[in-house]
Amino acid sequence: ANPAGIIGKDALAELIRRYRPYTKQGKVADYIPELAYTNPHALGIAVAGADGSLVHEGDATTRFTLQSISKIITLMVALNDYGPERVFSKVGMEPSVDPFNSIVKLETLDQKKPLNPMINAGAIVIASLLSAGGNPDEGLQRICDTISRIIGRNDIRVDQKVYQSERKTGDRNRALAYFMKSTGVIDADVDVEETLDLYFKACSLEVDCVDLAKIGLFFAMWGKCVQKQDDGTCLTEGIVSPRIAQIVTTIMITSGMYNHSGEFFLKVGLPAKSGVSGGIVAFAPNRYGFGIFGPAIDAAGNSVAGVRMLEDLSRTFGLHLVSPY
Ligand code: GLU
Repeated sequence: ANPAGIIGKDALAELIRRYRPYTKQGKVADYIPELAYTNPHALGIAVAGADGSLVHEGDATTRFTLQSISKIITLMVALNDYGPERVFSKVGMEPSVDPFNSIVKLETLDQKKPLNPMINAGAIVIASLLSAGGNPDEGLQRICDTISRIIGRNDIRVDQKVYQSERKTGDRNRALAYFMKSTGVIDADVDVEETLDLYFKACSLEVDCVDLAKIGLFFAMWGKCVQKQDDGTCLTEGIVSPRIAQIVTTIMITSGMYNHSGEFFLKVGLPAKSGVSGGIVAFAPNRYGFGIFGPAIDAAGNSVAGVRMLEDLSRTFGLHLVSPY
């Protein structure tokens, strides 16, 4: 039971009204030139409940690209395919205090492997696993199919402008990937350009807040079926085991909000993952999935208004996972 009632449309409208002014405090990411065209004052939120409810307010059906949020899906797919042991032999499980695209630790750490799968280096290693055997298209298809089943629409597609823009300007990610190949973290037989292509395309998949809320709810329910189809079957059946959902959830808590993950967990107390396009997926285990879009981001890469809305929701509805009450 929710101590402070259910999250309804009125509560969401109030959140948008209260926090839209904070969009002025952030900046739209422009290091991927195409992202700079986003309206900085956009703000939307969607909430999917374990009871099957779905409410949204503001710019909740505006499409944007997944960016780093894709990292939780690629991690889940890789864990399914290769198992935790193989995946974590390639990438660590420690939070990072450096920015998401940092290269510095790759040379200083003993094992050379990236700190976690939520920073770019870690996600690129995961993409190298999924594109192994020279089949990056199949890897992308797996990611798209997984998302399609979770969000219940099969028209998920790559935003070609964002993809091309990132591909053209993605030299830092290219540097990370080639560096990791040189140290053997990425296997010698992997084609780095194919791996990067898979990574860029996964980051460029288009979603909206409603989609993100459904992804949040999927993890909130440990990958178990939330909504049956009319014929009694379930689209999300068998996508992931509760054990793997637990691993992804834990990584989201420790590393999902870039180098502000500690502060975010202290204030909000929920697993979450953000992206530089301003999206955030968050969830309250067994209860709610949240999808947010607020493209004005802070220095760490998190939506300024989005983080505040989650903080407010967590406080108002008693959602913090570490609670004395
Ligand atoms: N595609 C972006 C990049 O690699 C993702 C960054 C992010 O959302 O954190 O730079």
